[in-house]
Amino acid sequence: MRTELPDEELPKTDDEWRVRLNPAEFRVLRQAGTEPAWRGEYTDTKTTGVYRCRACGAQLFSSGTKFDSHCGWPSFSDSLPGTVKFIEDRSMGMTRIEVRCARCDSHLGHRFDGEGYPTPTDQRYCINSISMTLEPAED
Ligand SMILES: [Zn+2]
Repeated sequence: MRTELPDEELPKTDDEWRVRLNPAEFRVLRQAGTEPAWRGEYTDTKTTGVYRCRACGAQLFSSGTKFDSHCGWPSFSDSLPGTVKFIEDRSMGMTRIEVRCARCDSHLGHRFDGEGYPTPTDQRYCINSISMTLEPAED
């Protein structure tokens, strides 16, 4: 099972990331791309476990906060405490909140607030499947 990458092995340059990530992963994680809706492997996943950053292995989201948003990407009501950071994203003519891994600064997706989903936070973390690796719970 892939776990957290040691600090000394964390890539510092794009060239180093390209060695670790395949081209599709690199485009989303390091170039803030977005995978096509409904194509990601975790869109409808219900498996219990923890979603880790596919770039550095840090734990990011619990399956307990994943919910059906019907938006075409995995959606979570919250992240694990302190695991992500937020950047204002003004690309594509919108102001959105970009979600990045706090540890390795890789792009994960966006956070949308106040959409009225029946979740405790009224937030939707809309995250690319390809940015994460699911670690199923034991048992
Ligand atoms: Zn990371």
